[in-house]
Amino acid sequence: MKKISDKVIGRLSLYRRILRETLILGTRKLFSYQLANSAGISAAQVRQDLMILGYMGSPTQGYDVHGLLECIEEFLDDPAGQSVALVGIGNLGRAILDYFSGRRPNLSIDAAFDINPEKTNGVIHSCRCYHLDQLLQVIEEKGILTAIITVPADQAQGVADRLVRAGIRGILNFAPVRVKVPPDVFVQDIDIAMVLEKVAYFSRPK
Ligand code: NAD
Repeated sequence: MKKISDKVIGRLSLYRRILRETLILGTRKLFSYQLANSAGISAAQVRQDLMILGYMGSPTQGYDVHGLLECIEEFLDDPAGQSVALVGIGNLGRAILDYFSGRRPNLSIDAAFDINPEKTNGVIHSCRCYHLDQLLQVIEEKGILTAIITVPADQAQGVADRLVRAGIRGILNFAPVRVKVPPDVFVQDIDIAMVLEKVAYFSRPK
């Protein structure tokens, strides 16, 4: 199977969000240029991405929004659902647990870990909290392959190493530091401070 880049996956995810909003507004048909306008990219890029899925629109009527949405969901989602682990039940970790609670039926945070015993052995927003010492056992038992890191920067690499040893294949890292992982493990960093710096730069009077 041809390797799909993370940029394509990111755009498909964006199309899904736009198509969901489109359906809520009651629109049933959409041309590639309309999807492209909403996504802020070219219509050619949209058509190229959707060709990967083998989904064809009608030249006169465009794409069937419901059909395209189903096709993207089939492509992106594991039908059996996917469990996610979170490490670091602090301010950000709790906010993420709150945000994801019940929001995505087939993508749920099923285990959270911390080193602080006061934050473990309970349930937060329907998610069971464990001590970090139980990470390997719980992740293996639950067959979790995806994890979120929300620990202080100086703890992130150690946590990433433990996650990789436990079999994690994808990490969403909120700590403001690059973690080193083997090449077959996917890492997405989210550094809010860097993003804000970029926005602030473009906000400056020219
Ligand atoms: P926090 O201090 O509130 O929480 C950190 C949690 O990690 C604590 O519960 C702590 O006990 C736990 N922890 C520490 N070492 C650990 C380890 N080795 N294993 C497991 N758990 C461990 O911090 P926060 O504000 O939630 O921020 C967490 C990370 O996210 C930081 O790297 C921060 O820079 C980043 N971040 C935070 C925000 C935010 O809005 N709070 C935004 C963007 C990024």
